[in-house]
Amino acid sequence: MVKKTTAKKQTSKTAKKTVNASKAETKKTAKTAAPKQKPSKADKTVKLSRREKVFLAIKQNLIAQKESLLKEAEETLSALPSELNFPDMGDQATAETDRNFMLRLRDRERMLLKKIEETILRIDNNEDYGVCEECGNEIGIKRLEARPVATYCIDCKTRQEEEEKIAEG
Ligand SMILES: [Zn+2]
Repeated sequence: MVKKTTAKKQTSKTAKKTVNASKAETKKTAKTAAPKQKPSKADKTVKLSRREKVFLAIKQNLIAQKESLLKEAEETLSALPSELNFPDMGDQATAETDRNFMLRLRDRERMLLKKIEETILRIDNNEDYGVCEECGNEIGIKRLEARPVATYCIDCKTRQEEEEKIAEG
């Protein structure tokens, strides 16, 4: 009688164990499928102000812009015609013009690229990004979204442009 009870107890215990094991398995699978994200990182995100959140979005955009610029520059460079490949003088002159045009274009791209990289660094280092170099006021979010590399607020920029116009006559 006593023996029988013990056996029954054992069986139910084993069954319970199996259930627990399969439960644990399910939990593990769900955890693996979810994207890796430490809770501490999530906490940090919550603490960000609206302005900081916009800065992060701007940074993401700048990184994407930088990548597409680099890709473009690479394609431009590989498309540059080599002077040696044009035995005819007329073709060579055309090729030279094309080459100069593309090099000038590349200069502009390089300058923009430099500005983008500087801006990304300023956001990363929290170095007064979004603060006007002239008056020290915050640059409006809308202006930063439209022109992330802006270093002057709209008032200072407008005044500068008016002064330039006057200087040009
Ligand atoms: Zn300003």
